[in-house]
Amino acid sequence: MMCMEESLNDQRDVPPAPGAEQYPALDLVNSVVALPGGRSQDFLDTPAEATRWLFTHGLATPEAVLRADDAARLRALRTHIRSLITSSALGQPAPEQALDAINEALRSVPAAALLHWDPARGLHRAAARPNTKVVDHALARLAADAADLLTGPDTERLTACGSTPCNRYLLRHGRRHWCSTRCGDRARAARAYARRTRSGIRDGS
Ligand SMILES: [Zn+2]
Repeated sequence: MMCMEESLNDQRDVPPAPGAEQYPALDLVNSVVALPGGRSQDFLDTPAEATRWLFTHGLATPEAVLRADDAARLRALRTHIRSLITSSALGQPAPEQALDAINEALRSVPAAALLHWDPARGLHRAAARPNTKVVDHALARLAADAADLLTGPDTERLTACGSTPCNRYLLRHGRRHWCSTRCGDRARAARAYARRTRSGIRDGS
């Protein structure tokens, strides 16, 4: 068995789950990970971490600084996207509250670049104030990405990692349903341990 200390190490070292580089919304859902012993690690816990997450996903400029309530909004959207992914993967009805949250994020910024005029540039199109509403824009893009993921051809490959206690989601390739090599190794070790325990019980009876 993998030793507990190793499992509790910083999960930042674990590479993104399959599909999470393609879909930032999937990586957002995976930004809080369950650890053995009922613990969890949240990579969006502080405004600084949330800012860094948006920046590394190309959703914020280097000058962007999130406040505590911005980070809370990002975590709330994450919860709603997760509940939609979970219900979709289980074939259950989509929670209304989650649909409302996604649509609110989508509606909060104009979907199209607007038409402007000024003396220097004349008529030109530009996105609406992307620098003053960084979080609104980031949430809208993540909501759009989640909507695309949940309505596109990849939906049927959305799977929860099969290695307890991992809670990450991934896009399945073939029969593999682990989010990482580490999770695959842990699941195999757990199966081997269960087999040994069962045969131990039989031997002992
Ligand atoms: Zn996993």
